[in-house]
Amino acid sequence: MGLLSLGTPLSWEEAKPLVDLIRERGIEQLLNIWKKAKGKERDILLWGDEIEYLVVAYDENSKDARLSLRQAEILKDLAHDKELQKAGGCVPSLQKVTPRAGQQCPTFHAEYGRFMLEATPGAPYGGTLRDLLTVEPDMKKRRVIAKQHMADNETPVTMTSFPRLGVPGVFTQPYYPPHGPIARSLFVPDEIINPHIRFPTLTANIRSRRGSKVRINMPVFYDEQTAKPFNDPTVSHDLFDYPEDADVRNGAAKEGHVYMDAMGFGMGACCLQITFQAKNISEARTLYDQLCPLGPIMLALSAASPVFKGYLTDIDCRWNVISAAVDDRTEEERGLKPLHENRYVIPKSRYDSVSTYISQDPGFRPEYNDVEIQQNFPLKQKLLDGGMDEPLAKHFAHLFIRDPLVVFSESVKNFDINMNDNFENIQSTNWQHMRFKPPPSGEDAIGWRVEFRSMEVQLTDFENAAFSIFIVLLTRTILSYGLNFYIPISKVTENMETAHRRDAVLSDRFYFRKQVFPHRHANRSGKETASTNSGHSSPGSPEMGPVEDEYCLMTINEIMNGQSGPDGFPGLLSLIESYLNSVNVDVETRCELARYLDLIRKRSNGTWETAATWIRNFIRSHPKYEKDSRVNSEINYDLIKAAEKLGSGEGEGTELWKGLFERR
Ligand code: ADP
Ligand code: MG
Ligand code: MG
Ligand code: MG
Ligand code: MG
Ligand code: MG
Repeated sequence: MGLLSLGTPLSWEEAKPLVDLIRERGIEQLLNIWKKAKGKERDILLWGDEIEYLVVAYDENSKDARLSLRQAEILKDLAHDKELQKAGGCVPSLQKVTPRAGQQCPTFHAEYGRFMLEATPGAPYGGTLRDLLTVEPDMKKRRVIAKQHMADNETPVTMTSFPRLGVPGVFTQPYYPPHGPIARSLFVPDEIINPHIRFPTLTANIRSRRGSKVRINMPVFYDEQTAKPFNDPTVSHDLFDYPEDADVRNGAAKEGHVYMDAMGFGMGACCLQITFQAKNISEARTLYDQLCPLGPIMLALSAASPVFKGYLTDIDCRWNVISAAVDDRTEEERGLKPLHENRYVIPKSRYDSVSTYISQDPGFRPEYNDVEIQQNFPLKQKLLDGGMDEPLAKHFAHLFIRDPLVVFSESVKNFDINMNDNFENIQSTNWQHMRFKPPPSGEDAIGWRVEFRSMEVQLTDFENAAFSIFIVLLTRTILSYGLNFYIPISKVTENMETAHRRDAVLSDRFYFRKQVFPHRHANRSGKETASTNSGHSSPGSPEMGPVEDEYCLMTINEIMNGQSGPDGFPGLLSLIESYLNSVNVDVETRCELARYLDLIRKRSNGTWETAATWIRNFIRSHPKYEKDSRVNSEINYDLIKAAEKLGSGEGEGTELWKGLFERR
């Protein structure tokens, strides 16, 4: 969940006069880091995943599955586990931990939801293909260790969204009534928020800055018996405790939608993220750009969250829910009122898809950055004056249009240019689908890293490992062949919307680049050959056709498994296969890797289901489902039990497993 400073946080009104100062200091720290680290070379490939878990508590008497709010106790228990300490130290932590090399035991972290846990490998994985085979066992170990430190009726579940978060009645263990002073939500109690002061402050300050509660409306899935038109019956219009209670009287809840009104609906969702280190800054910028168009594709392929607040929705993914859940833009910034107090009209939430490419590779054409973005020009000038190039300065100047949301008074008093706290304050609350991570200041050991952030967490560790391994192999393939996946960034944004649609993985098409090999030109015999030097034609040179000719709409099956015909897109999996053929890899490793790639292949061609489809079908075929889109507590209990079984490997080979992995 990014940076967790300790200290005295300021309310939004107190923080407001300091935001420019924090930003300026953040830019000074960034420039300092960049100057020190821009020449860093030969960092090795290290990488790691982050998996988030829901902690579920069963009440066997009432056959109910609830969210357990014991995150802190579980982390404390993990911290005091002597056996784990001996094994290299599980470091359950509120703070950022720098994993020590050789630390074999996973690391557990707190997350936004008091019902969540995050776990990472104890130390990043190394860069060999054999290292990839340690991923799934590591993930399985994390799940086992987490479970060992929970109560008998508790279990970790890797489900992206808890189906009954925010339903009227009991959905947490213990129960707390909703409508507390921090989130002021009609549906969730403040007690679901991690009590570490950063999180309630973040929640309250987003609300205060915005001037109303966040508004999250997700289209309901109309089933046979769903009331049409659907007006979310869980919304109370007659509360007068807080000014924000007027939101719903002012139309916050949209017809035909499930309405949610708190940060926890988004930040309480679980995801799978991958961070990897590049050999230098330029390689990191290349990978940032090249993986950017993959964000929406992998979101659709990993889709796992069709249910929110007890209703089946018509979307399959969490992304837009989180985006709206932390949208701190004022009415002015959303373009609803003329600019007066604020500086910019901003089209996107601070949690949204990437809006600008940053690499200086020859394959980049300026036309790909086809979206005009807001920038903090005075701060950009400082970066340019400090020697930073335009595309990178633009990237950071774009992040720095946002205000810091949580300001600690200690951090204001003690400014240290050799730290990165002010920089991270802005950086880590810009939740874009890729993150460009500079080395933390002063730490020579850590290089330039890129984070891939769009994926939903999968029900099984086999799937989580497969998705992680796929992304890592893709980065190796991109670098090895100099692949070019650029499409105009506006098309990535459009793809992100498409990815949310129900069953987008099989039913929709996405913009994707047709010719991904480095620039080719026709030789005299008319055959295409790769140009021998890496000097591509200069951007926009006349021999390059219009950008619109470079991409087309493809299904995910075509993107992954290829198109037929000699001119068809070869498919990412065959590119990865070629890469694997070109390197020295023992048979055993190759066979094991094939298992994981096969998941991607079969998910893409519809042989195996997404978790979203599996969950949707599970609910719709449950005997207690009334075909009215509602997921009642009995269905929820059975669903969570089934998900737990799958996650723990117990379901392997059963009908459950077949439901997910064998379409009949
Ligand atoms: P955040 O929450 O800010 O994204 P985390 O520390 O939770 O970051 O997770 C980062 C991931 O990056 C972990 O899986 C960790 O193992 C991995 N990692 C740590 N150090 C490096 C490094 N030098 N290079 C690449 N990955 C790293
Ligand atoms: Mg996390
Ligand atoms: Mg993390
Ligand atoms: Mg984080
Ligand atoms: Mg995170
Ligand atoms: Mg992360």
